[in-house]
Amino acid sequence: MVKIGVLALQGAVREHVNSLQSPGVEVIVVKKLEQLNDLDGLVLPGGESTAMRRLIDKYGFFEPLKDFAKAGKPMFGTCAGLILMAKKLVGQQEGHLEVIDMEVERNAFGRQRESFEAELMVKGIAEDINAVFIRAPLIKSVGEDVEILSKYNGEIVAVRQGQFIACSFHPELTNDVRFHQYFVEIVTETKTKCLNV
Ligand code: GLN
Repeated sequence: MVKIGVLALQGAVREHVNSLQSPGVEVIVVKKLEQLNDLDGLVLPGGESTAMRRLIDKYGFFEPLKDFAKAGKPMFGTCAGLILMAKKLVGQQEGHLEVIDMEVERNAFGRQRESFEAELMVKGIAEDINAVFIRAPLIKSVGEDVEILSKYNGEIVAVRQGQFIACSFHPELTNDVRFHQYFVEIVTETKTKCLNV
């Protein structure tokens, strides 16, 4: 059994909870700091990254979230969650949690394409993932330890660095749970490895 939390300060929480439901997974809606303690993995949902950051600071989540990543626990960020995980943000002095070595541009698809859907090949998951983009960020560049999982029109939209994954679209808004299953596998493997050390 693994315990996976969804950070529930702001954004699309319920959809992630539904997508994570599966045998062997206990899903926790994380509203209080103490709930981070016994989690094996954490989802940072989509929403609005600046609003989410404000609430992270207000409720004292900033250092505990950084420590969670430093402890090697898996994290999965979608859209605003991806923005929170980026080491660098275009036009900003600093990133937020800075857990994935990538540079991200917010709202990069522009107004005309505020939201759209596409079928994407995602490495290690499937060739036909239905991706929903909503005021989506783009990954401009990645460090050498970062694996590119998917591109849309030549632009990077999903990545993995060790036990951390992030995508600029919203797998939780579709009925396709394969991206979430992929995360559950990472969480399960990481937990098994830790128990065996
Ligand atoms: N554009 C939003 C931001 O900057 C992210 C949009 C989303 O999560 N759907 O936070």
